[in-house]
Amino acid sequence: MAQQQDLMRPLTSNRQYSELWQRVLAKLRFQYGEATFNSWFKQLTLKSLEDNCACVEAPTRFIREWVNTHYHQDIFTHLKSECDELVLLDMRTSSSATTSTDTPATQEHETAARQLYNYNTPIAKSNADSSGYVLEDISSELDPRYTFQSFVTGSSNELAHAAARSVAESESVIPGSNPLFLYGGVGLGKTHLMHAIAWYIREHQPHRKVLYLSAEKFMYQFIRALRNKDIVSFKEFFRSVDVLMIDDVQFICGKNSTQEEFFHTFNALIDNNRQLVLSGDRSPSDLSDMEERIRSRLGWGLVADINQTTYELRLGILQSKVERMKTDVPDNVLEFLAAKINSNTRELEGALNRVVAHCNLIKHKITLDGVQHILRDLLRTNQTPITIHDIQKCVAEYCNVRISDMHSARRAQHIARPRQIAMYLSKKLTSHSLPEIGRKFGGKDHTTVMHAVRRVESLCHDDPEIRRSVEMLMGSLEQR
Ligand code: ADP
Ligand code: MG
Repeated sequence: MAQQQDLMRPLTSNRQYSELWQRVLAKLRFQYGEATFNSWFKQLTLKSLEDNCACVEAPTRFIREWVNTHYHQDIFTHLKSECDELVLLDMRTSSSATTSTDTPATQEHETAARQLYNYNTPIAKSNADSSGYVLEDISSELDPRYTFQSFVTGSSNELAHAAARSVAESESVIPGSNPLFLYGGVGLGKTHLMHAIAWYIREHQPHRKVLYLSAEKFMYQFIRALRNKDIVSFKEFFRSVDVLMIDDVQFICGKNSTQEEFFHTFNALIDNNRQLVLSGDRSPSDLSDMEERIRSRLGWGLVADINQTTYELRLGILQSKVERMKTDVPDNVLEFLAAKINSNTRELEGALNRVVAHCNLIKHKITLDGVQHILRDLLRTNQTPITIHDIQKCVAEYCNVRISDMHSARRAQHIARPRQIAMYLSKKLTSHSLPEIGRKFGGKDHTTVMHAVRRVESLCHDDPEIRRSVEMLMGSLEQR
């Protein structure tokens, strides 16, 4: 504990930083394997770790966004296991990085957005109020690309879109829509809509004070205010905004004092007729870690869900993006992407960005074959996921043992080894946790699974024969 507290002071020794960060990186490498590690984590650096907040830098905006979307929670968890008091992970782009290292698509977007919103110009300092808090310091960064103009609607999101628009356009609170609660799975456009509301109000009703922040950041501010004995100003500040938006409220779950403060702020704003917009990954009634009275209050206003995208919507999003990027991508490639990448819009955009970046590099028209090659890893994860049962079956066949041996406790090596390999592959190829994997192997403990994973890793390292078998099994499972 003493060591943890030390870590929460500004770290003066570079070595201390670097050792801690190396441990986090090692865990990520173990978790995701070499290829993913090299693509996304290797170039990240830990810049600071103080005040309950870790700041991690990525070399380009594209990497930052990708990592933030796909791996934020894991990085946070590993950092938190190093220092218990951590509340916020802030991902930044290195200040030395120019956008030239980004994909051409991103550059294009940024330039357009700068022209449109002039977002380099600081917003009037009148936003600092008597509480001493400054709106821009508290607000999470708004992405200039997330506007109503760039939001494509379809049957899965039209209710949420209409609700967001009406909240943005109305100068006062619309009865029955306070709070507006947007919910839906990852990457379906909740954050995009919230930013769009903020941009719209900033542009059309500049006298209204809009505050957008992630639930994590809300918690961070709250804990900091508690520590600095600044709670009165904190409350005064939050209660002075006209429109408060908190993104991903499911992260407020389970932290009692923050929940309590969130609830008071929430009530105070509603009672004063201020607009609240919240988002979550599930409906208010399903936020099971949230206290019952808060849950029911969150559902008082307008609850709008965003459903999984349809093929038409995905195609529409791709077409609108390509149009704005002014790149020529053949229709059949867009149709292919819309059909194949059906997990969420963020992956769809990631795929398109990769394709466009590639097109710009090779300077000739991209073909369907080319796309399949560039996106082979993504396309794989959009297939039906591999199950532990698939793995057990495949390994049993290959090693000539019975499937029931996968569940048994027999320790003879010709049976225990295939079982360990199957456990290893289950860890690598599925998203199940160690305890879940243990259960599927005849109720074994998670430490047994962990041991198997380590054992197979070291065997692969030392024994080329075993490595080849494992690679072959992995390959055949992935190409089912
Ligand atoms: P969420 O907050 O629900 O996880 P985001 O708002 O971050 O999802 O959306 C993920 C990405 O997909 C963003 O880049 C966003 O611009 C894009 N996106 C999602 N839905 C749409 C849409 N209907 N039209 C255009 N882009 C969209
Ligand atoms: Mg979001």
